Amino acid sequence: MINFNEPTFAGNELEYISDAVTREHRLCGDGKYTKLCNSWIEQNTKVSKAMLTTSCTHALEIAAMLCEIGPGDEVIMPSYTFCSTADAFVLRGAKIVFVDIRPDTMNIDENLIENAITEKTKAIVPVHYAGVACEMDKIMEIASRHNLKVVEDAAQGVKASYKGKALGSIGDYGCFSFHETKNYCMGEGGAILLRDHDGIERAEIIREKGTNRSKFFRGQIDKYTWVDMGSSYLPSELNSAYLWAQLEKADEILEDRMEKWNLYYQSLSSSDFLRDRVELPYIPEGCDHNAHMFYIKARDLEERTKLIAFLKENGINAVFHYVPLHSAEAGLKFGRFCGEDRYTTQESERLLRLPLHNGLSLDDVSITVSQIIRYYSSL
Ligand SMILES: *Cc1c(COP(=O)(O)O)cnc(C)c1O
Repeated sequence: MINFNEPTFAGNELEYISDAVTREHRLCGDGKYTKLCNSWIEQNTKVSKAMLTTSCTHALEIAAMLCEIGPGDEVIMPSYTFCSTADAFVLRGAKIVFVDIRPDTMNIDENLIENAITEKTKAIVPVHYAGVACEMDKIMEIASRHNLKVVEDAAQGVKASYKGKALGSIGDYGCFSFHETKNYCMGEGGAILLRDHDGIERAEIIREKGTNRSKFFRGQIDKYTWVDMGSSYLPSELNSAYLWAQLEKADEILEDRMEKWNLYYQSLSSSDFLRDRVELPYIPEGCDHNAHMFYIKARDLEERTKLIAFLKENGINAVFHYVPLHSAEAGLKFGRFCGEDRYTTQESERLLRLPLHNGLSLDDVSITVSQIIRYYSSL
């Protein structure tokens, strides 16, 4: 079976975990490995501050608190995303306003955002689908004209960029995921990125159960106390040690994924047979993606369903995702779709993700491509 995903393994993970346990004697958060990961993110994205969290969902929750989102506020985002993007703001009492996507990148259509803004709007949450950037210049310009916060859901965007700027570093706050389905992983985990200095102290407090414990550890105060609302968002050193082994080899991991992504792209686009039958990903100019995902689009839901079944019969596990949030049970309760759903539902029903991970071989890619061609030639 060609697996859809296998968690990345870079080589030094177990050694670093063992180091944390037997030499550092530290399992709780913010030790040596958490700090190494935080600095790596800061250096690679040029943000003022990055902090590992227990998930990207939790990083989004911190961002929602930093944006002071409260009951009745509105937050704009695409409906074609993972539920966490919305959950973090729903937890603060916000109403989610969904906007249609662009069919070429599956990202929020930047030209539809302004129409969704009301006097209750507080934030825009662009999601960089497949590590391909949203049109951030336009989004930042709209946000600044309307005095809105921008929280980037860059869960899939680690080491991807927009016009030379790292994803997650452009909006007020950025959120990464290090879940095992992402390019770099720690089991469960994520990070919050703060572009500017203001907000850093509050973010540290929220992440540390509402205490000023970080300040205490830096020796800036004598004792720490409960000063604000917060939660427990620090990952254990065991998880951070695992991640560090991957971040120190981040370029190799990226190159390896990119090689497979490019082979998919070249093989599928050079097949005359597939030319008018499947649609391939589009990378706009100025966007450097990170080979997070390789997807194709079938004609419609029926064709996709048959193709998935065909691939499965032939030992290939390909998957689809994102039932649009506005049509989900919770989406109906917590959100509304602004404007026409021209592409969100239609395109989500066509999209199929092909296997892509570091354990995949180039042969696996070729086999997958030839099975796709076989399927279409059998029609
Ligand atoms: C994976 C993902 C998340 C959630 O990440 P966790 O680390 O599992 O919380 C949120 N948004 C998007 C777009 C994702 O792909």
